[in-house]
Amino acid sequence: MLNIMSGPLPTGRAPIDRASSISSIKAKNICLFFMGSIDTLYQYRQVEYLRLYFGVLRALVEIQKRRGMFVTLLLCAFLVSACSSSAGQAKGQSVVATIYPLQYFASQIGGSHVQVTGLVPTGVEPHEWEPSTKDITTIKRAKLFVYNGAGLEPWVDRVLEEFHSSSTPVAVDSSSGIELLEAAHEEDEDKGNHEEEDIGKDPHIWLDPLRAQQQVKNIVDALRVSDPNNRSAYTENGAMLTKRLQDLHQAYSSGLRACQRRDIVVSHNAYSYLAKRYNFNVIPIAGLSPEAEPSPAKMAELVSTARDHKATHIFFETLVSPALANTIAKEIGAKTLALNPLEGLTKEEGSKGEDYFSIMNQNLKNLQLALGCSSG
Ligand SMILES: [Zn+2]
Repeated sequence: MLNIMSGPLPTGRAPIDRASSISSIKAKNICLFFMGSIDTLYQYRQVEYLRLYFGVLRALVEIQKRRGMFVTLLLCAFLVSACSSSAGQAKGQSVVATIYPLQYFASQIGGSHVQVTGLVPTGVEPHEWEPSTKDITTIKRAKLFVYNGAGLEPWVDRVLEEFHSSSTPVAVDSSSGIELLEAAHEEDEDKGNHEEEDIGKDPHIWLDPLRAQQQVKNIVDALRVSDPNNRSAYTENGAMLTKRLQDLHQAYSSGLRACQRRDIVVSHNAYSYLAKRYNFNVIPIAGLSPEAEPSPAKMAELVSTARDHKATHIFFETLVSPALANTIAKEIGAKTLALNPLEGLTKEEGSKGEDYFSIMNQNLKNLQLALGCSSG
């Protein structure tokens, strides 16, 4: 276990120093051994074990002074096996996911075999979010790092490039293999020439239950590779989740089939995938990122568009101020209604036990209301 005799002895010392030199090499090796174990524990955030470790380390140094090497090694072996087995029971595969839907999918697929950490905090809108140094360390220590892809997290490539070592987490682009839609073109009104600017791909794939199935598959595949011992559990849980997404798709298909209107006015353009799948049109107040606010001229245009489309409801979303939606609704005598892009849960939604499916079902009800659908 410990190669305590392998260190070169310092030369040119008097024989009387030899014993203390060997002792210091032994101590150094024990330290290195401890540091390795501490690093492992730290990876799994076993802070309480860390504290215990440092306490015992101090005690060991004392014992070594008094009783010598043998007792130290014995205690050491005992302690390390005890600590690593209890740490092993507490942890699962450490998985870090950027946004809520991925966090939810990963925990459903991984069950008790994973420990999933969400990166974008509760109640924070992810489009403008950037990881802190602490977040980057969290990613680096994970076994698996699941991100949405399709341009939602423009910082991912830069962060992954910073990791050079072999301890880099396996990065999973959940959009891999998914047909992406172009982001809506936005007119640049400041230039006065209505130049259209291409802003890349639309990242909101998780809102389409069928595309979400592919995201689930990508996570299942990655977990099966990174933790082959629990392969069958991941496959089984993945199949169950896929089935639930299929049922959700059926509910949307039949629920949005027979409606009086086919246009919705929303506060941010998160619903292109959903709209394309279930055959309705989205009129966004803001752009692809909810922080992009319209100019007064654009606002007037939106009001008249909403009026032309005989909108009875203007949708707002939970993580963004409903002010714009309220203004337009008031102008045209419509009501406001929540449509949740599921980019994160609010604290309230979290404590009420809401999840991906409960919110998707609520969204369906609200869409049926706004589009005047006969429940089918
Ligand atoms: Zn969005």
